[in-house]
Amino acid sequence: MKRFAIAAALSSALIAAFAAADAARSDTSHVVDFASPDEVVEVQDALAPYHAPSGIQPDGSHWYLIKATNSALHASSRVLRAAQPPSVGFRLLPRPSRPAILSVASSDSAVSIENMSAYGRRAFRVIIPPATAVALAVQLANTGDPPSLMAWTEPALAAHNRQMAIFTTAVWALIAAAALIVCGLAVILGHAPARWAALTLMLVLLERLSETGLFDASLATGVGGPYGLMAMFAGLSVMAGIGLTNAIAPLHETWPPAARWFRHGQGAIAALSIFAYLGIPGMAVLADTFVVVATIAVAAYLIYRGWSGSQAARVSVPSATVFACVALASALATLGDSGESLAASAAGAFAAAAAMLLALAIAAGEGIAVLPFKSIAAVPPAPPQPDARPPVEMPARSGAAGSAMQAIGASHQGIFDLDFASDTVKLSREAAALIGLSEVHSRFNHGDWIGRVHADDRELYRRALADYREHPGLAFRIEFRVRSESGRYPWFELRATMLGEHAQASRCLGLLGDVTTRKESEAELLNQTLRDPLTGLGNRVAMMEELDQRGSRLADVTFALLDIDRFKSIHASLGDAGGDVILNQIAERLTKRFEGVAEVFRVGGDAFAIIFSRISSEPSAIGNELIDTCSAPYLLQGRNIFAPASVGVALGRDARDPLDLLKNTELALMQAKRLGGGCARSYSRELEMLAPGDAVTLETDLRRAIEDKQLDVYYQPIVRLSDGVIAGFEALLRWNHPVKGLVTPSDFIAHSEETGTIVALGRIALERAANDLGLWQRHFPINPPLFVSVNVSRRQLRDEDFGLFLGAVMHNAAIEPGSLKIEVTESAVASSQDMRAALDRCRELGAGISIDDFGTGVSSLSQLKDLPFDTIKVDQSFLARHKNPQSNADGDVVLKSIIALARDLRRSVVVEGVENEQDADWLKALGCEFAQGFYFSQPLPSADALKFIAMHFDMQSARSGVADVA
Ligand code: C2E
Ligand code: CA
Ligand code: CA
Repeated sequence: MKRFAIAAALSSALIAAFAAADAARSDTSHVVDFASPDEVVEVQDALAPYHAPSGIQPDGSHWYLIKATNSALHASSRVLRAAQPPSVGFRLLPRPSRPAILSVASSDSAVSIENMSAYGRRAFRVIIPPATAVALAVQLANTGDPPSLMAWTEPALAAHNRQMAIFTTAVWALIAAAALIVCGLAVILGHAPARWAALTLMLVLLERLSETGLFDASLATGVGGPYGLMAMFAGLSVMAGIGLTNAIAPLHETWPPAARWFRHGQGAIAALSIFAYLGIPGMAVLADTFVVVATIAVAAYLIYRGWSGSQAARVSVPSATVFACVALASALATLGDSGESLAASAAGAFAAAAAMLLALAIAAGEGIAVLPFKSIAAVPPAPPQPDARPPVEMPARSGAAGSAMQAIGASHQGIFDLDFASDTVKLSREAAALIGLSEVHSRFNHGDWIGRVHADDRELYRRALADYREHPGLAFRIEFRVRSESGRYPWFELRATMLGEHAQASRCLGLLGDVTTRKESEAELLNQTLRDPLTGLGNRVAMMEELDQRGSRLADVTFALLDIDRFKSIHASLGDAGGDVILNQIAERLTKRFEGVAEVFRVGGDAFAIIFSRISSEPSAIGNELIDTCSAPYLLQGRNIFAPASVGVALGRDARDPLDLLKNTELALMQAKRLGGGCARSYSRELEMLAPGDAVTLETDLRRAIEDKQLDVYYQPIVRLSDGVIAGFEALLRWNHPVKGLVTPSDFIAHSEETGTIVALGRIALERAANDLGLWQRHFPINPPLFVSVNVSRRQLRDEDFGLFLGAVMHNAAIEPGSLKIEVTESAVASSQDMRAALDRCRELGAGISIDDFGTGVSSLSQLKDLPFDTIKVDQSFLARHKNPQSNADGDVVLKSIIALARDLRRSVVVEGVENEQDADWLKALGCEFAQGFYFSQPLPSADALKFIAMHFDMQSARSGVADVA
C-alpha cells in the first residue's frame, strides 16, 4: 500500500518536473546550478510546493519541486540533505522526527539519483549530465515551511561531516570526562554536591548526544520523537542542576520556605520533562522554555550567594553562567532564523566547557569543605560591598561541607570567621554552640566580640590579631576566654590563618575549640609546681619567678623572710595536723594584713617570704609589722599557741639580682635569729662579715674547736625579784672562733644538733658548769645554794651515757643536790615517753629540771604537771609582746595565769628577756619569782661571773648575807 502511494507520487512528480524544467529555462533566478562554485547551496529558494494528486501524504510528508541545472560541460554531482530549520523543536506539537528527505525523483532519465546512507540523516546523491536542466521532485518530512534543503558538493559534505564528527566527539568526550570525574568523586565521597553534579553532567551528556541524533530512529525516540527526548534530558539536567545548586548554597538559607517546597519543585520539573518526552502537546516547548529561564536563574542565584560570601557558590558561578549562556544561545538559535547555525554547534562546545568547569568547581568545593583554609585562600576575596550583608557565610551545611562541619562539631570545634573589611565575626553553628549561643546569634560586630573576651585576655587577643594581620597567609594559634551565655568564661583555642593577597590580611578564618579542660589541668599542674599545697600560697619557685619577673623594677622591692622561731618544737608537740593548722593561720594572717601591698609565699617548712612592691624608707618598720602580725597567739583546739617569728628584711636596690636579694635577706634573718629570735633585722653590709661558712666547714671547724678548746661557757645571772638577790645562772655556750671572734650558740647549736656534735658540746658545757658551780658554792655557801641551769638538747638526753656522765660530773664537782639544773625545752619533753624516763633518771641523780622556752610550744602547764620539773622558764617573747603597744593583752593574761598556776603547783618561774627596770617591776608586781635578762647582766665568762657574785655577795653580806644585784 505504501509502496503504491510512493510510486504514484513519484510518477506525478515526474510529470510535473517536465513542466517545471520548461519553466526553469525562462526563470533562472530559482534554479539551482549544480556546477556553482559554492560548495554548499541552500536550495530553499528553488523549492516549489507540489501538491500531489492524492493530497496530503499519509506519513505527513510534502512534495517539492526543484529546478536544477548543470551549466558545466561535465556531469555535476551534489548531495541533497535536509537541514534543521529554525523553531523545529519549538512547537506545541513537536515533530515526531527530524527533517529528512524521504525520496528524490527526476524527470530526466539521464539524471542519476542514489540513496546515500553514509551521510547520516537520509541524503541523496544527484548527478546531472553536462549542460542539462532538469526538474527534481523531493519528498520531505518534518521540515519547516519552507523547508531548508542543502545541496553539497561531495568533498565539502565529507569534510563537513568529518569536522562535525571530530567536534562532536570532542564535546562528548569532554562532557563525559567531566561527568566521570565527578562520578568518581561522588562514589568516593558520597557527598550530595558531587552526586548532584554527576547526575547533572550525565544528563547534559545525554541531551547533547540526543541533539546530535544518536538516539534517532531508536526506541528512545519512538514515543515523543527526538525533540521530546531532548526536552526531557534538558529538563532533567536542569532539575539535577537545581539540586546541585541547593547542595552548594542551600536555598532555604536565603528563602526559608524553600526547605519545604524544594523537593516538590524538583518533582514537578521531573514530571514536566517526562511529559515532554511522552509528546504531550505543549510540554516540550514548556520544558525548553523552563530550561532557559531556570539556567539563567540558577546562575543569577549563585552569583548572588557568591557575592554574599558563600565560597562554594563562588566557585560554581562560572560553570552555572556558561550553562545559562548555552541554554540562552540554543533558545535564540531555535527562535531565530539561523537554522542549523553556528550558535547551535557552539552551544555544544560551551556545554563541554561548562561541564569541565563544574567538575573543577565540585572538586574544589570538596576541598573547601574538607580544608577550609587552603582552598578559600586560593579564591580571590569578594569585593567589599558597602550596604549588603557582611560578606561572610559558612560553607554549605549539606553534602561534603555538611559532613566536614559535623566532624568539626563532633571534635568540639567550630568555624570562626573574622572579616576585617566589615569588622564582623561570624561563628558557625558549632562554634556558637560552644559559647552557648543559638545559630541566630552567631554574627557579631568585632567590637562586641572583643567585649565578650575576658578582660585579662583582651589585650593579648587584640595585639595578636593586629600583629598577625600584617602577615597574610600566616597560620597561628591563640588562647583566650570568652564569656558564655551562662556567664562563665570557658577557655578557647583559635587556630586560624590570615587570608588576603595584600599587605594586610582581609580575613581571619579558623577553628575555635573549647580547651577549658586542658587549661584547667594545665593550671592544676602549674599550681602543683608553683603553689604550696597546704596554704595555697606561692612556693619558693613562684617567689623566685616573681622576683625574676621584676627585672629592673627589683630596685623598688622590699623583701622580707619570716621564720617561725621554734616551729620544730611546735610540730613535735602538735603533730603534723596541728603544725599545719598553725602554718595556715600564719599564712592567712600575713595575706590579710598585707593584702594589696605585698605578695606572700611559703618558701620552706616554717618560712615565709613577703615581696613588697614599693621601696620602704623604713625596712625596720616593715620588719616590726611582720613580727607583730605573728606575735598574737594562735587558737588551736581551744588553746592559745604562741609561734614567735624572726624576720629579715632587705631592699631590692641593695641587691644585684634576685639571688643576691635573697642572700641579703637571709643574712638579716640569721642576724635576727642570732639575737634570740622574735625580732626583725634589716640587711646592712656589716652583716656580710658575720655570715658563717657553709655547713661542711662549720662541722669541721666545730670539731677542731672542741679539740682546740675554743669553746667556753658563759653565765647569765638569774635574779630573785622579791629581794633582788642572785639566785643562780644559766650556762650558755660561746665559741671563741680564731677568725670570727665570739660566736653565739644560735650560729652553731642547731647545726650541731643535726650532726650530733651537740653531745660533745653538751658535755663540755655540763662539765664546766658543774665544776664552776661547785667552786662558787664552796666560796659562797648561801641558802638556798646558788644554782646553774645547763641547756640540754633532746639529742643529749637520748644519749645512753648521759645519765652516767651527769652522775659522774655532779659527784666530781661535789655540788649541792638539786642545784645543777638541766634545761630542756618544752617541746622536747612533751614529745615522747622515753624523754620522761630520761628526766626521771636525772632527777634520781639529784639534778634539778627546768622547762625552757615555755609558751612557745603548745603544752599548757597543767598538761606538764606530772613531769618531774621544778622550774619553768617563760620565753622572752612574752615580755617582747608585753612591751609592744600594738599587740593585744592576751600574752599578759597567759603570763599571769602561768605564774599563778606555777605557784599552785609549787614550781619556780623564771621569765627571760628582762631588758629594763619596767620589765622587772612589772614581773615583780605579777608575783613572778625569778627573772633573767640583759637588764641584770649579759652572759659573763666564768671569772667575771665569779667576780659578779663576789661583788654582790660582799655588798649583800654587808647587809644581809646574800648577793643583791638590782
Ligand atoms: P635560751 O636557752 O633561751 O637562752 C637564752 C638566750 O637569750 C641566750 O642567747 C641569751 O644571751 C639571750 N638573752 C638573755 N637575756 C636576754 C635579754 O634580755 N634580751 C634578749 N633579747 N636576749 C636575751 P644565747 O646565749 O645566744 O643562746 C641561744 C640559745 O642557744 C639558748 O637559748 C639555748 O637554747 C641554746 N644554747 C646555749 N647554750 C647551750 C648549751 O650548752 N647546750 C644546748 N643544748 N643549747 C644551748
Ligand atoms: Ca635556756
Ligand atoms: Ca630560754
